[in-house]
Amino acid sequence: MARMKALRLHGIGDLRFEEVDAPGAPGASEVLLAVRAAGICGSDLHNFRTGQWISRLPAIPGHEFCAEVVAVGSAVRGLVPGMLVVADSRVGCGECGACIRGEVNRCARLGFVGEVRDGGFAQFCRLPASLVFPVPAGVSPRMAALAEPLAVSLHALRRLEAGPGDPIVIAGAGPIGGFAAVLAAHLGLGPLGIIERNAERARRVQAASGAQLLAATPEAIAAFAGERLLRHAVEATGQPQLVDLVIGGLAPGGRVVLVGLGPAGQAVPLHAIVERELDVRGCSAFGNEMPDVLAWLPLLAARLEDLASPPIALAAVPGEYDHLMQGRSGFVKTIIAP
Ligand SMILES: [Zn+2]
Ligand SMILES: [Zn+2]
Repeated sequence: MARMKALRLHGIGDLRFEEVDAPGAPGASEVLLAVRAAGICGSDLHNFRTGQWISRLPAIPGHEFCAEVVAVGSAVRGLVPGMLVVADSRVGCGECGACIRGEVNRCARLGFVGEVRDGGFAQFCRLPASLVFPVPAGVSPRMAALAEPLAVSLHALRRLEAGPGDPIVIAGAGPIGGFAAVLAAHLGLGPLGIIERNAERARRVQAASGAQLLAATPEAIAAFAGERLLRHAVEATGQPQLVDLVIGGLAPGGRVVLVGLGPAGQAVPLHAIVERELDVRGCSAFGNEMPDVLAWLPLLAARLEDLASPPIALAAVPGEYDHLMQGRSGFVKTIIAP
C-alpha cells in the first residue's frame, strides 16, 4: 500500500503530521486526487478547539482544496487525469426534503468533507466524482483553493439582497467577511464598510475591495451609512459584542446576515428585532454559488492575490493553527501545499 503525508485530527486539540496509507484506486463513481493547494478554514480551527463536528477519529481535515485528478472510476464522465478540480465541501444525505429540493446546505444530516470523510490536508484524497467541480483554465491551484470560502461569501451576499448604492457593513474581515467585501466590490455593490481589529488583514481587504475601515462603534456605523441609513450588514465573527453592534446599527426594516459562529446560547436583542422589523438571516455553507465563483475566478484572482498566504508545508500546519487562533495572521486565508 502506498503511503502519503497527511495531517490527522486525533481528538480535541490533537492535530498530528503523520505518514499514513494513501487512498487506493477509486471506486466506479469516485476520483483519486493529488492535492495541490488547501485552505485552512475557521471551522477547521473551531472543530480543533471544541470537537463540535468530530464524527470519526482520526480524520484528515480540509474541505477547501484544489487538486489534480490522478485516476477516475469506470462510471465517471467528464473528468480525466490531469484536470484541476476543487472539492465540494458539503456531504448531504441525498434523501431528506432539503436534499431532494437541491438545498444540500440545508440537509437534515449535513456533513462536511474533512469531518465525515477524509479531506484535503494530505497528499492524496479520494472523493465521489459528484463532489468535485472542474477549475477554469489559467487559474492557479492557490487561487482555486479559495473557491469554497468564496462560495460561502457569495451565498451570504445573496441572502443579504442589497441593492445598488445601499451601504453595507461587514463585521469581520477574515475569510468569509473579507471575501464578501471583495465579491461585493466585484459586483458593484456598496459603499462598503468593514470592521476588523487585525490591522494587516484590514489593510489587505481594503486594498482588494475599496472598503472603508470602521471603528467598532455605533457612531462610526451611523457616520458611514449617512442619510441612506444602514439597512444591510453581514456579521462574520459571531462575537456577541459585534452581533449586538451591527443589529443595533440597523435602521428599521434592515437586514443582517449572520455567518459567524459565536458561543452557543448567546442572547439576541429580540425587542430591537420586533420593534424595528429587522430581518435576521442565518447562513450555512453555500447553495448553488460554486459555478459562478469558479467562472469569476480568472477575473477575481487579481483582487485575491494578496489575501492568500504563500503556501506552507503540511508539517507547519499545527503551528499555524496556534498562530491563527491567536488572531495573528495578517493574511485572510492561509494556504497549504501538500
Ligand atoms: Zn470552510
Ligand atoms: Zn439530506
